[in-house]
Amino acid sequence: MRRKIYHPLADWLIKQFLRVLKKKIIKIRIVRKLRDPYTQCKVLGLCVKKDKSQEIYIYIEIQQKLSEKVLTAIHELGHATWWYASETEIRKFESLMWRYSSTKMKLKFLEALRKKTRLGRQPK
Ligand SMILES: [Zn+2]
Repeated sequence: MRRKIYHPLADWLIKQFLRVLKKKIIKIRIVRKLRDPYTQCKVLGLCVKKDKSQEIYIYIEIQQKLSEKVLTAIHELGHATWWYASETEIRKFESLMWRYSSTKMKLKFLEALRKKTRLGRQPK
């Protein structure tokens, strides 16, 4: 039997994300046919900081498998946390988190996503 390895730091990070979602510091919206408001390109996820309120919204395309939505949410939370990190760095972060977080924590995160996400409109 192959044991799954996980790193406590990955679980700790997801725990922090859960707190951020619970306190509504970052809000998540699910959108159909999500597009980048600047380029008009179709995207799977977006992280937007509102100019006036400084609120952070994460948008997730609805047409993805459950596991893909979780991955997209982790990716966008990475952007929100490390605003100036490059796309490549955030992709690395996303795959590291996926590999090293425990199944238990992934399920907890999925549960939080279910509770905290609302259907939303296309960002402008
Ligand atoms: Zn990205």
